[in-house]
Amino acid sequence: LVASMEEVEQTYIMIKPDGVQRGLVGEILSRFEKKGFKLTGLKLFQCPKELAEDLHCSLVSCYVFLFFVLGFATLEPRPEGLSETTSLPPRGSGKVCEHYKDLQSKPFFPKLIDYITSGPVVCMGWEGVGVVASARKLIGATNPLNAEPGTIRGDLAVQTGRNVVHGSDSPDNGKREIGLWFKEGELCAWTAVQEPWLV
Ligand code: ADP
Ligand code: MG
Repeated sequence: LVASMEEVEQTYIMIKPDGVQRGLVGEILSRFEKKGFKLTGLKLFQCPKELAEDLHCSLVSCYVFLFFVLGFATLEPRPEGLSETTSLPPRGSGKVCEHYKDLQSKPFFPKLIDYITSGPVVCMGWEGVGVVASARKLIGATNPLNAEPGTIRGDLAVQTGRNVVHGSDSPDNGKREIGLWFKEGELCAWTAVQEPWLV
């Protein structure tokens, strides 16, 4: 457990639309920066509604697709050159439903998708030793009323459905979510140099 805390990890942090609307971008970003983690990716991004709805109905469309495939496969041969459809979202697609796929059965899921797609979000990649768990501590409890003072949600938010920021819950999800929200060339691997920036 101790060893895993010392590994360099990647986490996906996202300032949700309420954080952007309320002018909290600088405040939230600076908490991770001051802590000492390394920023590897940063962009303002409006998730298109269709990207959200897409997977929203993934189960229904899956059944419809199967119905047609099974129904027509025997009747009509597949036209040559018809491209294969894939269920995997392309890198950097920012598909909110894919991001929150573990919550798809929750009653608040449609509202959550509406919330996240209601305005631009700030997507961030952060790197560092134990950054996944540490970022979750800096963010605080899901329900801001239970979040300790000093945490982002504890200081800046009131409602669970308006809790200003997201942070990955495991190193695996950190990598998965960074891949989901960022395209290849949008991330920077960089090393701090010993330059006299200030004179
Ligand atoms: P966290 O963001 O702390 O990891 P979860 O992964 O459990 O929390 O939930 C993801 C997000 O879904 C939350 O941050 C919040 O925006 C929203 N959410 C969770 N539970 C509820 C709820 N009961 N009602 C409304 N929104 C919720
Ligand atoms: Mg979560």
